[in-house]
Amino acid sequence: MTVLVTDAIVLHVADYLESSRILRLATRDAGVVSVVARGARNSRKRFGSALDLFAEGQAQLQYKPGKDLQSLHGFEVTRSRPEIAADLERFYAASAVSEVVLRLVHDEAAPSLFGNLSAGFARLSAAPAGTIGAAALATLWQLVADVGYRPTLDSCAACHAEVPEDEPARFNAFAGGVLCANCQRRHPGGRTLPPEARRRIARWLDGGESASEPAQEQTQVQLDDASLRAHQRLAREFLTHQIADNRPLKAYVTWESTHW
Ligand SMILES: [Zn+2]
Repeated sequence: MTVLVTDAIVLHVADYLESSRILRLATRDAGVVSVVARGARNSRKRFGSALDLFAEGQAQLQYKPGKDLQSLHGFEVTRSRPEIAADLERFYAASAVSEVVLRLVHDEAAPSLFGNLSAGFARLSAAPAGTIGAAALATLWQLVADVGYRPTLDSCAACHAEVPEDEPARFNAFAGGVLCANCQRRHPGGRTLPPEARRRIARWLDGGESASEPAQEQTQVQLDDASLRAHQRLAREFLTHQIADNRPLKAYVTWESTHW
């Protein structure tokens, strides 16, 4: 058992017994961990605003690798992000992102993922109205790239033949990306992706911390309602295939089915 001090973001909070809370944290050094904050419901002194969703800071854990529930000793909040809870559209979008992280990431160290997630929540706090959906989609596709599930977009996922970038292409989550005309026949299903949607996803995948293009150009994108719905559906189908545990993405579906 060691003390681990690591950057962390609160993704989920639940009451536990009479006086405690259980949090699920995305951490820079230990992936996603569940922690118990003992006495947290009786006194806000010890943990302060650390128990608020999407709060970010430095967590101090009593940490034992492989243990289901770690113990939270302290949490020094650096960003509390009340803007997200104050606006239902931001809250639904951030909840969908949290849910995907909780289902996709396990207890391995994930520094680039943590950095992109932190930047993603910062964008969701500050995104101008009309760009919140795109900000969430950018964050989701960067998570996909960070965990190594990046889909193939410029060549066929099955035979690696070039897929012309200015033509619609069939995107098949099961095959892992777009397919050429030949391979489409052997892999039925999927969705047709217009060229601009394919370019947009490629930019989102490349738009992480190390991106050369300014982050704002990647993410302050205003999608019309139909494009937003199509992007949400495509990302959900792809993520569901990667998560592969047959449980629905409830918070994601709520985000997707709410119109603003
Ligand atoms: Zn092919």
